Amino acid sequence: MAELALTGGLDGRADRIGSDPGTDGRLTGGPGVAGSVAGDRAGRDLLGGLASVVACAGVVILSGAGLSTESGIPDYRGPTGRARRAEPMTYQTFTASAAARGRYWARSHRGWRHIASALPNAGHLAVAELQRRGLVTGIITQNVDGLHEAAGARDVTELHGSLHRVVCLGCGQRTARTELDRRLAIANPGWRVSGGVIKPDGDADLTDDEVAGFRVVDCLQCGGALKPDVVFFGENVPPPRVAGARMLVESARCLLVLGSSLTVMSGYRFVRDAARHGVAVAIVNQGPTRGDHLASVLVDAPLGSALPDLLRRLSPAA
Ligand SMILES: [Zn+2]
Repeated sequence: MAELALTGGLDGRADRIGSDPGTDGRLTGGPGVAGSVAGDRAGRDLLGGLASVVACAGVVILSGAGLSTESGIPDYRGPTGRARRAEPMTYQTFTASAAARGRYWARSHRGWRHIASALPNAGHLAVAELQRRGLVTGIITQNVDGLHEAAGARDVTELHGSLHRVVCLGCGQRTARTELDRRLAIANPGWRVSGGVIKPDGDADLTDDEVAGFRVVDCLQCGGALKPDVVFFGENVPPPRVAGARMLVESARCLLVLGSSLTVMSGYRFVRDAARHGVAVAIVNQGPTRGDHLASVLVDAPLGSALPDLLRRLSPAA
């Protein structure tokens, strides 16, 4: 059952999230107060507490895979927080071997179709609407699916890059994935592009036999090897991108985490930064997160329903 909880931790931070007319700048409920979403009045009031934080504007959003699961993009971790069976490609493996790159692109040629056809869900649309209303000053995402932009959001910091772009390891040129998809289809006539279990990074489970014979294409400019423009496991997020995101977080009134268990340090460090700078932290996620102890507001609920509910609680757009 979905569960909704508001934890304490606002001491000394209430001034950062602005005043709440009903609660003198503090959220209702004290440390450890928890309620159930389903038919529980107290639970709904706690979601109202989140609305009072967001209504004060200056919100920076940090989104993770949980926001896209309702669009059919799988998460590496389910609501229990336990890792599912998945062996993501590492940067070291990808760059070390042409054979590994061949296997990756064969599998990805199939997985891409699934990512490219995914549609933004009610959660993505709610985020774009919050931004349109001027309540959100920044959107940082760990997702590589492009669904924030597809929902109409602007100026999204894609921390881990985007599967919609390809980067050349030789000359650094970035090109559209749709163009690579077209070239790969021409180079591999008759290649089956259905089936296989799709992974969050656009990879798909295919056997060695299935990937044998797949022809990879290289950079049209320099002949270098192509890589999806995403940060693989074992690869660092580019420092300028981190610095830009950190500035957004540190100048926010509230960091709102959506659908991330914060297991990966590239996301968790922003929550630590926020807490260190007195920026309130709110988390909406199914299941526990690594940042729960730093959060002032903690909502455990599906994002596709919680975020539209949040919108309804805010005053209508002008
Ligand atoms: Zn190149």
